[in-house]
Amino acid sequence: MRQMMIPGRTREILKRHGITLKKSLGQNFLTDGNILMEIVQAADLSEDSGVIEIGPGIGALTEQLAQVAKKVIAIELDQRLLPILRELFVDREKVEVIHGDALQVDFHQVIATRFPEVDTLHVVANLPYYVTSPILIHLLEQKLPLHNIVIMIQKEVAERLIARPGTKEYGSLSVLVQYYAKPSIITRVPNTVFIPRPQVDSAVVKLDIRQEPAVQIPDEKLFFNIVRASFGQRRKVLVNALQSGLFSSVTKSEIAGWLTSAGIDPKRRGETLGLEEFASLAKVIYSHQSTD
Ligand code: SAM
Repeated sequence: MRQMMIPGRTREILKRHGITLKKSLGQNFLTDGNILMEIVQAADLSEDSGVIEIGPGIGALTEQLAQVAKKVIAIELDQRLLPILRELFVDREKVEVIHGDALQVDFHQVIATRFPEVDTLHVVANLPYYVTSPILIHLLEQKLPLHNIVIMIQKEVAERLIARPGTKEYGSLSVLVQYYAKPSIITRVPNTVFIPRPQVDSAVVKLDIRQEPAVQIPDEKLFFNIVRASFGQRRKVLVNALQSGLFSSVTKSEIAGWLTSAGIDPKRRGETLGLEEFASLAKVIYSHQSTD
């Protein structure tokens, strides 16, 4: 591995360019070579893979990705980092740096126009913590032709992604991620390996994207509205949570009837429902709404 971003080198580059890192942009740069390697290995890249990296910073991970993949598109929001990245990758045709906000990027277009002839597509990133969930949702909801997503995120968010029903970490983000992907934690990472140190610990998470969603449902929008309403007021039993969150003009007894038809006790709480049960409920509600 060449040019590993050891702490001294990171500080030297930032100093030379007169850059002070911004907390507001989630700028905690990774300086541990072993963890960089673990992230790259987890993505299962080949020399025919295309990679989208979100937030390359000063290119620590980008560098390692470019050694394995066919092409890396790195999207960085902070304009001040672009000269560093362009200088670092000036003679590396396979790295392309785009100045932009990952939340605004049309990834379908990026993939269609910038990844000719790649076998598998991946997103690999040490994500800015302030915007982890919106970026993840943005990526998954677009249904991109991705093989996997490997991301470093805050440890507590990682626990939410893999959480099972009935635990306190389980919520609508768990359902959304598990609907589109199979998540697993690759490794937990202490805060000591970043410059500057964040206040939280991190974890590397791998999401293997499912060819088909985990459950079949007639209307995704309705499904996710039901999921969100069910978790909206966690202390409420389902019949009440659904009424106050989504179906204010429907009587409780009718909602209880939907739940019973789906094989779910109306007195259960949303956080105890697995994906299959949310899907059954969504199907029952869909069929009632389309016959109303
Ligand atoms: N990849 C580098 C590393 O591992 O050391 C930097 C990771 S740092 C946690 C997050 C990076 O994301 C920063 O470079 C930050 O400027 C960038 N960033 C923040 N918000 C962004 C956004 N909305 N779109 C793209 N990049 C963003």
